[in-house]
Amino acid sequence: MHAAGLPLRVQRRSISAEPKVAQTKFYDLSERIVLDNERCILCSRCVRFTHEISKSHALGIKQRADVSQVRPNEERNFDEDFYSDNVIDICPVGALLSKSFLYRARVWYLTKTPSVCPGCARGCSIDVWHRDEEWKLQALDARENTSIARVTPRDNPAVNGPWICNKGRDIARIFERPRATEPMLKGRPVDTADALAEARRLIDGAGRPVALVSSWGSNEELEAFRDALGSAFSCCVKDDHVLQPGEPLEDDLLIRADKNPNGGYARKLFGDARPALPDDADLVLVWGEGFDFAALPRGAKVILLGSWLAPENGHAEVFLPVSLQTERAGHYTNFQGVVSAFAACFERPAGVSDAAALFAALGPPAGGAT
Ligand code: SF4
Ligand code: SF4
Repeated sequence: MHAAGLPLRVQRRSISAEPKVAQTKFYDLSERIVLDNERCILCSRCVRFTHEISKSHALGIKQRADVSQVRPNEERNFDEDFYSDNVIDICPVGALLSKSFLYRARVWYLTKTPSVCPGCARGCSIDVWHRDEEWKLQALDARENTSIARVTPRDNPAVNGPWICNKGRDIARIFERPRATEPMLKGRPVDTADALAEARRLIDGAGRPVALVSSWGSNEELEAFRDALGSAFSCCVKDDHVLQPGEPLEDDLLIRADKNPNGGYARKLFGDARPALPDDADLVLVWGEGFDFAALPRGAKVILLGSWLAPENGHAEVFLPVSLQTERAGHYTNFQGVVSAFAACFERPAGVSDAAALFAALGPPAGGAT
């Protein structure tokens, strides 16, 4: 109550003569999206998206007049539309809400960094949303400060237009796996300088060294590897990521069969040969994921560069933790030859180095650690 005894808020009568239409507030449109029908103005953009762009025909408008509602088509499954989350972006009134982002953060607490989706060879332009410097959490869970809050498409007519697929929205699932942050020699933590010195010794002493080059390396990293170590190894490019269960192989809109962002440029630098290790390889440098360690030649020593915790990290003679795409700037070249830039969103964790700096330190003349 106000000091004078008047109510602080005066309830005004609605100026509308029509009764309010009560609608469903949280309708589960799919496993990823809820619909607030009281916000919906029935513009039908979301319905048209599924008919004209994603071609899933998964949404329609049920009933007529003031009981009309956007609803999933009974004969289709909106969960199977791999582009479904684009309807969230095109809804003009915010009636379609992403379950993974709902209540996660006020938008003004976030900032966006331009990036490139690494989910396939299309290399869609995206914005990665994360906590703004000014609004960093001090006392609450500090991991929120270095986590991806959401991913949205960045309009790029040369690559993806205004769309991305749901895999691009979910790249945090790839990046935010438990990180490897300690250099190791046979599982024993060491500092970066010691790990580099041992790697250098192994390279100098190898008779048949082979390198499996990452198709997730940026243009700059691939060039750094070629310049520093390309002549010391026989090189071939491996697929760091392959098709996952439930993921579409390829389609006419965006999704490409190659599930790596820079395989084309890597093969341009290092050749098209499929990764095959000769029986007499005595040193294998593995950069990134996707290598089956059961295929290692007997007795071959391993230098491994990786970003996430994995059992093989501790078995390698030398393990060097490397930064993620969200911790450094660079470029990818997509399957059409379009070069796109990505910027850093977060600081590298302590103990982690940029792969390009490691290659420079390993190549002749030997440099220093990062
Ligand atoms: S785009 Fe939004 S406002 Fe338009 S019909 Fe769909 S839910 Fe309703
Ligand atoms: S089409 Fe490929 S590059 Fe584009 S968002 Fe999907 S996975 Fe990422």
